Amino acid sequence: PDTVSLVAAGEVVERPASVVKELVENALDAQARRITVRVEKDFGPITVVDNGCGIPADEVLLAFSRHATSKISTARDLENITTLGFRGEALPSIAAVSRLTMKTREPGAEEGMLVEIAGGEVLRKETVGAPPGTQVIVRDLFYNVPARRKFLSSWRAESSHIVDLLEHLALAWPEVSFSFWLAGREVFHTPGTGLLPAITAIYGAEVASTLLPLEAEEGELKIRGFLGRPELARGHRRHQVVVVNRRLVRHYGIAQAIAEAFGSLLPAGKHPFFVLFLELPPRLVDVNVHPQKTVVRFADEREVLALCREAVKRALFGERRPMVKT
Ligand code: ADP
Ligand code: MG
Repeated sequence: PDTVSLVAAGEVVERPASVVKELVENALDAQARRITVRVEKDFGPITVVDNGCGIPADEVLLAFSRHATSKISTARDLENITTLGFRGEALPSIAAVSRLTMKTREPGAEEGMLVEIAGGEVLRKETVGAPPGTQVIVRDLFYNVPARRKFLSSWRAESSHIVDLLEHLALAWPEVSFSFWLAGREVFHTPGTGLLPAITAIYGAEVASTLLPLEAEEGELKIRGFLGRPELARGHRRHQVVVVNRRLVRHYGIAQAIAEAFGSLLPAGKHPFFVLFLELPPRLVDVNVHPQKTVVRFADEREVLALCREAVKRALFGERRPMVKT
């Protein structure tokens, strides 16, 4: 590929974890109920298999051309976007900087389609027998971008990023069954039957059995999820998950508000455990999806934070406290 498309690809595919994120989000957008992710050791192949809607045979190559599949046409669309991907950049970008194989079949189609692309160049396209859904294998990431390869962090650091990411995705989509294999070992397998079973699969039954349900509602704003008791607080934030309107986001203010609500119960320097789902009308939230991170802003941030505090206090202390508007 030319320099421009390599640079563009580098924006989307910063590291192996970004490949995993984009492929899993595509599987979720394809309405998959089951997603299997395999990541081999030492930057080996990354495989994502789903049982979603597949890609029509005559559109498979289109999926690899930049922006060709962009699901968005106007600013109004942007507000109402219901899929995780909408730029049509991920697959072309990944295929530009790796050797990628995709096998895909629509559930109703007689046969599937196999494509092989290396460095953005189509090497093979043929019909194959395949189960319904899509399988993508990404090998030799950055093989044609030596500068990027050199700046990859250690495999240890990278694989721990991938673990965090998949844990969070599996928690954000508890009705989807995730099976995650790292270096030949199954890390977790969520059953796809709800949030508590997903938490149990990821953090263990002992942790799950001590959690407190989180629930609060104020006007069009809804909060639900689970909260860990103070003893579950840790020195890191890997077990802090915020999902806003079905999107995994980072929001420091929410984490801060939840910690505040614990008051003196929270050991110094520790961060509480929570998996929190926020739902509110799209017009009250601005979700800015950068390929690498999802930042969210609320029209009324004070109200959101107040409801988070309220939900936590109610979970911890039981009684219903009146909301105080400051
Ligand atoms: P985006 O997700 O932003 O549309 P991508 O480059 O990630 O762009 O994917 C391009 C297109 O390929 C998607 O819009 C979708 O139509 C199709 N696609 C990708 N992955 C899958 C999958 N696992 N199952 C079904 N269709 C897929
Ligand atoms: Mg996508």
